[in-house]
Amino acid sequence: MILPVVFNVNHSSIRSFKSIKLEHEQLITRETPENKLAQNSIAKNFGRNYLSAYSSGMLNFYTGKNNPISFQALPKVIQTKSAYRSYARNGHIGCIYCDKLMFSSDEMARSMHTLSNFAKDAKSFTQVAGSFSEYLKPNQMNIIDRISKMADTHPGIDLETVISDIVLQSEKNVVEKQVKVLEDVSKLSAILPDDKAHKIRTLVQQFKYRLNGIAYVDEYSAKEFFYQIRKLSNLMSDKTKAYEISTIAEYLTHPVFKNESGCLPLKVVKKLYELTKIVPHKRAQLLVPDKPGMASKAERLILAEIEKCSCGNMKNSINDLCDVTKKKLDGVPVVLKFSNKAFSYKMHEILEGENKAVVEQFTACTRKFPASVNNEDAYMVKYKNMPVEKFIYDFLDFSKVSIEHIHPRNNNGPDNIGNWALACRQCNSIHGSDDIFGEKFPFKPEAGQHYFDTIIGDTNKFGYFRVKDVLKQIENYESQTGVKIDSSKLEIPQ
Ligand SMILES: [Zn+2]
Repeated sequence: MILPVVFNVNHSSIRSFKSIKLEHEQLITRETPENKLAQNSIAKNFGRNYLSAYSSGMLNFYTGKNNPISFQALPKVIQTKSAYRSYARNGHIGCIYCDKLMFSSDEMARSMHTLSNFAKDAKSFTQVAGSFSEYLKPNQMNIIDRISKMADTHPGIDLETVISDIVLQSEKNVVEKQVKVLEDVSKLSAILPDDKAHKIRTLVQQFKYRLNGIAYVDEYSAKEFFYQIRKLSNLMSDKTKAYEISTIAEYLTHPVFKNESGCLPLKVVKKLYELTKIVPHKRAQLLVPDKPGMASKAERLILAEIEKCSCGNMKNSINDLCDVTKKKLDGVPVVLKFSNKAFSYKMHEILEGENKAVVEQFTACTRKFPASVNNEDAYMVKYKNMPVEKFIYDFLDFSKVSIEHIHPRNNNGPDNIGNWALACRQCNSIHGSDDIFGEKFPFKPEAGQHYFDTIIGDTNKFGYFRVKDVLKQIENYESQTGVKIDSSKLEIPQ
C-alpha cells in the first residue's frame, strides 16, 4: 500500500522546508540555552507556516516515494519476526484488523522526536500529529481535535497545559458514566434472588466508595489476588522470579484455604514449605498439620515469600498489592482503585449459577463502562500527573507494528510464520487471547482481505513469502475469525 501524497507543495516551499529542517536539526545537535530558544521559535514556524511542506516531506519518508518498497534490510524470503515487522515500514501494509498503517521502531523513534519538538505549542502539535492520520485511530483523531479546539481559544498554549485541562474534564465525564453503569446494575439486581441481589448492591456501594477514594472493608478473594499479581509479575523483567511468584500465588486458590476450620493436611503443609523455600530447621513451629487456624498463617507466609521474590521495576506495585491484601485478610478498611475489570469480575462471581440470559443482561450493563479503546475520556484519564512525553509516546505506540498470533498462543496457537500476522499494538492487545470468531469479531472484516491482497501481490511478484506460509496464515485467519478471504489471485507453483 503506497500512500498518496496528501499535500500539494510547490518546489520553492520544499526548498525552504529543507533548509529549515536542516537548521532545526543543527540546533538540536548543539544544545545551548540560546539554541533552545531559537529551536523553539523555529519549531513554531515549522508548525504554522511550513506544515504542508513538512508533512509532504514526512510522507515522502514514510511512503518511500522514491523507493516504493524499501526492503534493503530484508532477506529474500521473510521467515523471521523481525523481517516480518520490517515489512510494515514505509506504510507498506496496514494492520490486519484495523487497516491502519503501523510504525516500525525507528519510525516510531523519529516521530516521537518530531512530535516532542512541537509540545511547546499545542496548535502546531495538532497540525503535525494530524499528518499521521493514516496511522491514528478514530479516538486519537478526536483527541487531536479536542486539543486543537482548546489551542484555538488559548493561542500559544503548550501541550502539557492542554492535556492536564482535558484530563480534569475527562475525569468528571468518566466518573459520571461509571456511576450511571453502577446504578443500572443496582436496579437490575431486583431480578435476582434476595441474597444475590443484596450482594450485588453491596458490591455497587463498595465501588462507589472506590470512585470517591473512601476506605472500606473489602473481602479477600484468592482468585482476584492471583489475577492481579500475575498481571504485575508478567511485567517483571526477571522472568524466573515472575514465574515463581505466579506459581506460589496460584496456590492460594487451592480449595483447602476456604475450609472453615483453617486446618491444613500434611500434604498441603509439605507443598507450602517447598513453595516458600522455608529451610527445614525453621519449619517446626510454623505450620502444624490439621491444626485450626493454620490456613491464615500460611496465607501470610505466601505473601511474605511473594514480597521477597518481587524485584526490579515491579517491586513497589507488587509489595503494595501484598500490603493491601494483608489488610483485607485482617479485615482492615482499605482505599482501592476503581477498575471496570475488577467490578465485572466480582459481579460475575456473585452471578455464578444464574442462567445465561440473566448474566447477559448484567454484562450488557458493564459493557457500557467507558474504556480507553472506545472512549476518549477514559483514554485521557491515564495521563493525570504524567509527563507529556508519556502521552506522546503512548499516542504513537498504539500504532506500533507487532507480531500477532492469529491463533492465540495461550490457546495452543503455534509460534511460526504460518500463524503470524502484522497488527498494531492496539488491535493486538484488544485480541489478546479472546475468542474473535463470528459475531464476536471486534474489528473491520474488510481489513483482512486488504492485508492479504498486499501479501499475495508481493508473494506473486517478489516471492517475499513462501506460498505455503501465506496459505497457512489465511487458513488460521479464517478459522479464528470466520471471515472468508479470497485467495484466488495467489499463484501456486505447479
Ligand atoms: Zn490495528
